[in-house]
Parts: sequence; structure tokens; C-alpha cells
Amino acid sequence: AHLGRMGEVEPKVRAFLHVDHETTIEQARAVDTRLRAGEKLGPLAGVPIAHKDIFSTHDMPTTAASKILEGWRPPYDATVTKRLRQAGLVILGKTNLDEFAMGSSTENSAFHPTHNPWDLSRVPGGSSGGSSAAVAAYEAPLSTGTDTGGSIRQPAAVTGIVGMKPTYGGSSRYGVIAFASSLDTPGPFARNVLDAALLHEAFSGYDPMDSTSIDAPVPSVVEAARNADISGMRIGVVKEFAGEGFQPGVLTRYHEAVQLLESLGAKVVEVSCPSFTIALPAYYLIAPSEASSNLARFDAMRYGLRVGDDGTRSAEEVMALTRAAGFGPEVKRRIMLGTYALSSGYYDAYYGQAQKVRTVISREFEAAYQQVDVLVSPTTPTTAFPIGERIDDPMAMYLADLCTIPSNLSGNAAMSVPCGLADEDGLPVGLQIMAPVLADDRCYRVGAAVE
Ligand code: GLN
Repeated sequence: AHLGRMGEVEPKVRAFLHVDHETTIEQARAVDTRLRAGEKLGPLAGVPIAHKDIFSTHDMPTTAASKILEGWRPPYDATVTKRLRQAGLVILGKTNLDEFAMGSSTENSAFHPTHNPWDLSRVPGGSSGGSSAAVAAYEAPLSTGTDTGGSIRQPAAVTGIVGMKPTYGGSSRYGVIAFASSLDTPGPFARNVLDAALLHEAFSGYDPMDSTSIDAPVPSVVEAARNADISGMRIGVVKEFAGEGFQPGVLTRYHEAVQLLESLGAKVVEVSCPSFTIALPAYYLIAPSEASSNLARFDAMRYGLRVGDDGTRSAEEVMALTRAAGFGPEVKRRIMLGTYALSSGYYDAYYGQAQKVRTVISREFEAAYQQVDVLVSPTTPTTAFPIGERIDDPMAMYLADLCTIPSNLSGNAAMSVPCGLADEDGLPVGLQIMAPVLADDRCYRVGAAVE
């Protein structure tokens, strides 16, 4: 049924970079055989899934939407893909993204943009826009994404689905092509909170292959998603994320969602987190700094694209030609920003300062969680914007992540759950629910109450 649906809508939505019906059917048959043999596979056995093309898959290409990895087939699976295969999920294909997950619209893909199923002239968010569009367009019931600065929550919000960034270290980065290693967090997309919880639980948990993986029990998010009782819960409304620069229709739905939580018995208080407003500039120093280091591995020698290797050029010349041809403009911008921020003489002024801001933000979260169980805000300042509108204005593009970035800098759990359509354009609005590190279950409990 999903392959059929893809046949109908994929020419318009373009959520996928790679589909291979034969491999999908083969996987489905293999799951069927395992089930018939009496293997216990868990609640998602046989359910199809789409993976963001940043998760390594040994039987399908993995490109991170970059020309530099075009046609590359990893020799192994990411822990997330491996665990989901073991649980019997069937891979429909690999979804589009902004190159190396750098962007908020999926327009930075080296291959093609993805269209928002609600309005094909608009972006599906990013960087995991292929994964959000595939689920919103009913091409897949579930998908995976990665959230470094909002890349799960923002696309979920603007396509009207559920997206969850687990606690950093709660889901394994092993086999996920690195963008900013201290921030990258794999997580689930689904059309409802319980489905997201089932997927979250199926791939989470300690992984010795990831040095920052947390060796602690995974909070039972499925149980929380089934129990939407929030009476007595203390909910903090982030004061800084509701005024200027926010689309009126987004704010109306957001305030209604907060009222709904109150009517369900939660205690709502206003909380001030003044440093959240400087999270964005800190992020745009830290993330590019880490990216500039991570992307050094694409050197034309080990794997991926190689340009100009005709026997007359030095290794350095081949590297330079390959990187010039293989990386897109946004990736180059990040490498320049990152190498500049890390260079001697500027390190203390930029990277060092940004790290201090990061600490201050974590402390503000900690102080807030002394008073409340979760914090809420709109997920994004606006609904989905038109394709092309912000592509030549990086600052406008970066603002899409205003509300999502603080949770990446602190590593805490955060979810986006749909809370209605904006009056002015009829497009989906997302409510963001933030919870302390390893309290992912609270996001699911509140999310289930809202939905
Ligand atoms: N839009 C942000 C960026 O471009 C976040 C990306 C992400 O979370 N992967 O860096």
C-alpha cells in the first residue's frame, strides 16, 4: 500500500533520494518468514519506515544529500537502522535532507528540493524535510531524522506531524554521518504520539559503539504516550518565545494549546530564560566549528568523490578540486565559519564565548526545571515558508530554529506536536514541549494530552 501511495504522490512531493521496491519487498518477505518461524519481533514488526539519508544502510546508498558521497554504499548499518531491522521494520527508502543536515528547508539538498504536502509551493522544513514530508504525505507511517539544531522538530511542526528529539546520548550516533557531534541526535517522526513512542523505544538505549551514549535505562515513553494524564503537572511557558517576530496565527494556536493543558489540570506558570535569545548565535559558532572538523574526512582519498586524479596532480590539488566540486554553498559557508571561529586569535572571542553561552543556557534550563516539569513554546516562529523565499538569506533561514536550538545546546529532550492550523494560511502549527535530560517520557505524556 505504501509503495502504491509513493507511486501516486512522490512525483509531486519528492521526499525520497533512493527507493528500491525490490529490496523493500525482499525485506518484508524476510520479516514474514521470521514471524512464521515464531520469532518474537516486537510491536513494529512488518511496519514500513523511511530513513533520512544520513543513516548508514549497508544495502542502500547513503549520501547525506551531498555530491561528495553520491553513490556511496556504506559497508555497515548505523545502530539505529540495525536495531530497527532487528525489530522487523521494513525500509521503504532513504529520504531527502539539506546537505549534511545543514539547513531548515531541504533546499540545500544537492539533488532536488522536497515539497510540503500541505502546499507544494512551500518547504517541508529541514534538515529532515524528506522524512517529515514522507510521513505527512502518507508515503510512510514512520521515519527517522536527526536533530542538531531543530531538524526533527521544525520539519515536524511545519508538516503537521509529531517529531521528537530524544535526550542527547539517548539514541546512538554510530553510523550517522556526523554534522556537529556534540549536538547530533537521532529521533522519530510519526503521525501520532504513540507511534513516535513505539519507534523511539525500538531504537533507543545504550550503544557501546557511540562514546557519548548514555548508559542508563531508557524512560518508558510508550507507557507515557498511553497515559495522557497531566493533572498536577507544572508547565512553564517560556516568556522569551512568544512576542515579536512570531506569526500571529502561530501564537493564537500556541496560546490555545497552553489553555488546553491548563483545562486538563496542569498548573501553568510563566518562566523567564533570558539567555535563550542568544542561543542562536552561539549555535551558529559551535555547530559550524564541529562541522569544519568533521568534514575534513572528505579528502577524496578514502571514499566518495574524487576529481582531477589524472596522474599529473598532487594529493592536495585533488583534495581541493574534489572539495570545491563536491560541497554545496551552505556547506562551504559552514566550513569557512567554523575554521574562522576556531583559528588562533579568534578562538577565545568566538568559540570560547559560544561555549560559555552554552553553559549559561544549560544552567537556565536547570533553574527552570526546579520550578516546572516541562517547558513549552511554539516550535517555530512561522508556518512553512515558500520555496525560494529564504535561500539567498542565510540569516532568515537560521531564524527558523530560534526556539529549538536551546534544547540542543543543553542536550535535553524536546518534542513538537501538532496544535492546529494557522488562521491566515491554513498551515500546521507545532507546540514544542521541552523536558530535562532523560525525562523524555514527560514530552510524550504532555504530547499525548495535546493531541
Ligand atoms: N537548521 C539548523 C542548521 O542548519 C539545524 C540543522 C539540524 O538540526 N541538523 O544548522
